[in-house]
Amino acid sequence: MKIRVLGCFGSRVPGRSTSCLLVDDKLLLDAGSLASTLNQAEQVSLDDILITHAHIDHIIDLAFLADNVLTSRKTPVRIWAAEPVLDAIRKHLFNNVTWPDFSLIPTPENPVINLLPLPAGKQAEIAGYQVKWEETNHTIYTTAYCVEREGHALFYSSDTTTTTAIWEMTRKCENLKIAFIEASFPNRMEHLAKISGHLTPEMLKVELEKFGDRDIPIKVFHMKPQFLEELRAELAAIGDDRLQVLDGGEVFTF
Ligand SMILES: [Zn+2]
Ligand SMILES: [Zn+2]
Repeated sequence: MKIRVLGCFGSRVPGRSTSCLLVDDKLLLDAGSLASTLNQAEQVSLDDILITHAHIDHIIDLAFLADNVLTSRKTPVRIWAAEPVLDAIRKHLFNNVTWPDFSLIPTPENPVINLLPLPAGKQAEIAGYQVKWEETNHTIYTTAYCVEREGHALFYSSDTTTTTAIWEMTRKCENLKIAFIEASFPNRMEHLAKISGHLTPEMLKVELEKFGDRDIPIKVFHMKPQFLEELRAELAAIGDDRLQVLDGGEVFTF
């Protein structure tokens, strides 16, 4: 499995892109920054995208992807998410006001994108991967994912504040090799983190007790860029050797 970090921040400033992971050059986890990081050929070759939730920092580049690959693909790009997430994407992004409804363009029979609900249950094979999901504790319906292929799995928390189900899911993910977990606001902003459905480094430390004492690299993402130096210092102060604060552009292979 090869994971390329296209974006790992909770907002955008020059040189910092929003949440987006590319798995094996073909499966995308969230669509926060593919249009500004993948070239045209790489965008055309994306077949499947797993979306965690409908906040703009996780879906914005679905709009530009649909536009960029409109005449270049023979089959629709499959965009997978829980039904409440798809419902929000239909209503608020591809609604013929904010952006055209690319699920009907160029033709309803063969559109550029298909919006596909996650199958019933909490696991399924999607795009050749065994995918598990659980709802996180965020301000809108959001799923965390475990994605596995050939005995190697990743965990992606998406946006979350204090919770339990997603950590239990990681225990069922026996072949876990890497975990991407969010930390958005510095410790002094715990109130803001809680009401916006996020974690501070101190809150992350408590969540990691639920994740367990497993020897798995933990990549921290979704930092708000204006607090990055403060977050780096506070994450280092946790003293957990497994933690690495992402900067964007990293490639992990295992
Ligand atoms: Zn976010
Ligand atoms: Zn969010």
